[in-house]
Amino acid sequence: MPVCDHCKKKWTWKETVFSKLMLSSSAPCPYCGEKQYASAKTRKRGGIMVLSVIIPMFIVSLFDFSMLFYILFGLIVFFIVMGLSPFYYELSSKEESLW
Ligand SMILES: [Zn+2]
Repeated sequence: MPVCDHCKKKWTWKETVFSKLMLSSSAPCPYCGEKQYASAKTRKRGGIMVLSVIIPMFIVSLFDFSMLFYILFGLIVFFIVMGLSPFYYELSSKEESLW
């Protein structure tokens, strides 16, 4: 689980998933209010997570399933990836450059 770089409090799974962090890669800490950024390492892993959604989607698209199956499959993979992401998230008080 992510730990606030400012107050060192651990964010819960729920706080991480429902924070804006997933979408904008920055969110205020629920404990101290300090703005926290996803670390560069985390954002790089985020790219791998995107691939981990796209690759299974690509594999199932080789088979002749119905459209509904693809949509459901995509949603399931997406929620699994989202649900697991708090476990690898690392926070930083500063916005780190990727390179
Ligand atoms: Zn904090």
